[in-house]
Amino acid sequence: MLKDKVAIVTGAGSGIGRAVALAYAREGAAVLVSDLTAPGGEETVAQIRAAGGTASFFAADVADPAACEALAAAAVERYGRLDIACNNAGIGGEAAPTGDYSIDGWRQVLDINLNGVFYCMKAQIPRMLEGGGGAIVNMASILGAVGFATAPAYVAAKHGVLGLTKTAAQEYAAQGLRVNAVGPGFIHTPLISGLEADAATNAMLVSLHPIGRLGRAEEVAELTLWLSSPAASFVTGAYVPVDGGYLTR
Ligand code: NAP
Repeated sequence: MLKDKVAIVTGAGSGIGRAVALAYAREGAAVLVSDLTAPGGEETVAQIRAAGGTASFFAADVADPAACEALAAAAVERYGRLDIACNNAGIGGEAAPTGDYSIDGWRQVLDINLNGVFYCMKAQIPRMLEGGGGAIVNMASILGAVGFATAPAYVAAKHGVLGLTKTAAQEYAAQGLRVNAVGPGFIHTPLISGLEADAATNAMLVSLHPIGRLGRAEEVAELTLWLSSPAASFVTGAYVPVDGGYLTR
């Protein structure tokens, strides 16, 4: 499905990003696995290589524009082109109602979850256009579509990712570059392990998903893979939930 394609995945040392990187590689892409620090990313690379795929690691903090530029440049240097990017790195941030939310906490979440997506896209787009187009999938959330008490920064950042996705989709559609966003419900990953550890909170979260369970990273990866592939050739500017029915409520 992705033979001869070159892909970047940010936040690929854990959770959803790792699952996306593995799915891209399984379908034949060379994957530049990126994360803040090496251990998780190197483990993703090792899993891809063990399965016969092509991957290497590049450390980048998505809150740093220069690092995002270097990451996109590295894809072209190492593999000759850039076709696909999954801008996935993100954090949950502190939990507090808006009136009590710290300024530092707000800035940190916006820097990583929204500014980071913009910095990555800004670096990726010219390189994709040089190659005749491509596909960007931004990892939003159900909380890009609805509010969630005590998560004002996360919700605002993910809503921002949707706006950025739709705008870039319009700007580059005629040049063969598609830009879409994925909206996971609550997914079993280290990001929410603290929430899942509390039985009452976990039960509350499960009750928000009509399917009756939380999601798996691989279920998000399959949608991301499809949006990144030629099978989705007429899909751009879309926000696609993968949420066990969360947004039907
Ligand atoms: P995860 O397991 O915590 O993985 C996130 C990865 O991003 C980690 O490897 C983390 O590195 C990395 N990261 C954090 N800050 C970074 C930065 N500044 N620069 C580069 N990498 C950074 O979380 P996940 O659940 O897979 O989340 C992936 C994406 O899905 C996020 O955008 C999240 O908002 C979104 N999402 C998750 C859920 C969910 O329920 N899990 C639901 C909806 C959307 P460290 O571990 O070193 O910090």
